Amino acid sequence: MADTWKCVDCRRTIVGRRTEHCAACHQDFRSTGAGDDHRVGRFDVSDGPDRRRCRSPREIEGRGWVRDEHGRWYRPMPADVLAARRGSA
Ligand SMILES: [Zn+2]
Ligand SMILES: [Zn+2]
Repeated sequence: MADTWKCVDCRRTIVGRRTEHCAACHQDFRSTGAGDDHRVGRFDVSDGPDRRRCRSPREIEGRGWVRDEHGRWYRPMPADVLAARRGSA
């Protein structure tokens, strides 16, 4: 059974759980961790400068993130970091 869900706001169909679609700003991310990282502010604040919100595409880009061929954001990792991760995993 395909693991899909549909975003009610932008009507996109999201396939799989490994990719993350933000139900607030409707950007796609390669992983849940990447999705979490585009959210800033404090969990318990809904207003003001510390409010919980999504980074804009410009802000995400400013952090050095790029989009893959499917338009999903991810943080490119230096080859040596990748190698180190593979070794410790
Ligand atoms: Zn978002
Ligand atoms: Zn959406």
